Parts: sequence; C-alpha cells; structure tokens
Amino acid sequence: MKKLPIIYHPHYDIPVPKIHSFVGNKFSDLFTYLQDHYFQNLDILTPSSATFENLKKSHEIDYINKVTNNQLAKDHLRLINLPWSERLRERSFLETEGTFLTAKKSLKTGLSCHVGGGTHHAHFDHGYGFCVFNDLAYTAINLIKEKLVTKVLILDLDVHQGDGTIDICKKYSSIYTCSIHSNSNFPYDKKKGWMDVSLPSAIGDDEYLETLKKTLQSIHEQITPDIVLYDAGVDIFLDDKLGNLKVSLDGIRQRDYMVLDHYRKKNIPLATVIGGGYSKDHQELASRHGIIFETAIKYL
Ligand SMILES: [Zn+2]
Repeated sequence: MKKLPIIYHPHYDIPVPKIHSFVGNKFSDLFTYLQDHYFQNLDILTPSSATFENLKKSHEIDYINKVTNNQLAKDHLRLINLPWSERLRERSFLETEGTFLTAKKSLKTGLSCHVGGGTHHAHFDHGYGFCVFNDLAYTAINLIKEKLVTKVLILDLDVHQGDGTIDICKKYSSIYTCSIHSNSNFPYDKKKGWMDVSLPSAIGDDEYLETLKKTLQSIHEQITPDIVLYDAGVDIFLDDKLGNLKVSLDGIRQRDYMVLDHYRKKNIPLATVIGGGYSKDHQELASRHGIIFETAIKYL
C-alpha cells in the first residue's frame, strides 16, 4: 500500500485561552483524528527547527533575533494577536521548517501533507494575524536557493489573502502567488500578487468551484511550476467563525480534489498546508482540516 507522507511535530500546539478564535490544540487534534482513521496510510515525518541561515532569506535578521530571544515589542505582539509563550516561539521555527520538509518530500513522492503550515500573514520584518514566520515564503525561497526547483507556485485558497507571502515573494520572478479569497475578510489592505481572485462574501459551492476551475486553467495557460505549495485553508466553510464565504464540506472536498487532480495528472509535485480554520467545536475543526488528507490518501 502506498503511504501518504505527513509532517507533524508534537510541539505544534500552543497555549491559547478558550475564548480566543485560534484553536491552540488543533494540530494535535488533527493528528489524533488522522491516526484514528488512517493510521495504516500514513508515513509520519518530524521536522527540525528552521535555521537562522535559512530564515534570513525570507525574514529580517533583527526580527528573527527578537523572536529567538523573546524580545518582541508590544506593538509587534499585538499584530500577531496570540499570547506569547516559549511554545509559540519554539513552534514558529518547527512549523516553518515543517512546510519546507513537506515540499522536499513531495519532490520525491509527488504528494505530501503538512499537519500545520499556512502562516501566510507573516511579513519580512513582522508577524501578523496569528503568524510569526511565513512558512510558504520561506519554503519557496529556500527551494529556489538550494536549486531544488526553478519555478514555484503558491496556490493559496484560504479565505484570507496571504498578504505576507505576496510581500516577501514579490522580488522573486520565479515564485508565482495565486490567491482566491474573500474581498471583505481580513487583511483589509489587500496586496497585489501574481494572480488574485477576490470573491464577494457569501458565495456558495457552485460559484466557488467554477471560479477555481477557471483560475487553474488560467494558471496553466501561463506557467508550468516545478512544485505547487497548496494552502488548503478550510475557513471558506459556511460555518467558519472567521470566514464569510458559504462553501459546504462537500464543496471543500471537491475543491481539494480538483487541485490535486489538476496537478498530479500533470505530474507536478504538490505539498499541502492546512491554513486557517476556526470553530468552537474542536472535533468538527479536526475533521474539516482532515479533508485534504483524506482526499490525498484516496488519490495515492
Ligand atoms: Zn484564513
């Protein structure tokens, strides 16, 4: 039986108060869910921490040092909007490297999935919106610097635009960012990436999937990437606490299948990250994030 490589570290969870929108234990919830349902289908890999040498390719040295030494000023912490902790510091390095490991694994196997990642609001010199370092920009830049690939597509289908990813990657002509997001969700200052599709709020499955189909076709007419980093954020869900689109669970399943099928048929490696998803019901959230893994396992 072919196994799906998944990347996970038990130190991904962070302590967050119950009233906070961010579910601090969603990573272990998801990992437990996957083990309970798909244990035999998984090849589990554990990342090390992102190194200073690699991080400084995507982030300002002073900012990395401040994170490393727990010295972020109050206004920086306010932008991140998570309670600072030793675990948050530690996980920021682990999860960033985790996406890079996921990408490197996918170059060998064609498909691999990170039980984390999608910290797309982190900018070059500051964190933002629950994100400390930008795993997608870090991965894309390091893949290119290590000459593992020449062209990277970052396909970001989280309901929020990956403003940080766009900002960090814009000086690299070989990194292509494509985002389909809600036009009325955070971040309110939208950036201009390679391809942006801004959706009106409250659109449902049919319109969403039709837009995705056209977008994948449009990308295909313009570039052939060596790898796709896919942010499979599930905050497009109709009941998501922070999203305002109306896509059903079946719509998310169809979305993920459409992306996987599109790139795997072309033999283009695909590395997925979980992105955003917000709910008071932690089991519901784990199963919602589980969709991309289920879709990938079925696709093997
Ligand atoms: Zn999001």
